Amino acid sequence: MQHFLWRCSTGYMPCKEALLKRKIVNEAGCFRCWQAVESPLHATWTCVCSGAVMEKASFYSKLASGQYTSFTQLMEVALQKLTVDEVKLLVILLWINWNERNAVFHGGSVTAADVLLMVLLLCGLPS
Ligand SMILES: [Zn+2]
Repeated sequence: MQHFLWRCSTGYMPCKEALLKRKIVNEAGCFRCWQAVESPLHATWTCVCSGAVMEKASFYSKLASGQYTSFTQLMEVALQKLTVDEVKLLVILLWINWNERNAVFHGGSVTAADVLLMVLLLCGLPS
């Protein structure tokens, strides 16, 4: 998870915005919603596809009203407003959104069961 956060915060996440800068793709639009440039913040937080996951989190309302300009700014506000456990869950959900984005980018799809399985694997199976 630390590596994921580092990549999102430093521009090394291979979202389309970064791929365009490296001339790997010729446009940076989000291929899931076509409403914005696909930055790390968009792919994991502001995309309507990502919001569907985030809206279910109990802490979502604490962050939803913010107008974030970068992934780093989102995390700075999260660290101020959320509890430690809420920040941990936020990072897991951001990571899940990134993995869902990757699955779609590479021609697959992610189902609700896949997301639930990832959460269970990350959080441990209930006893
Ligand atoms: Zn999008």
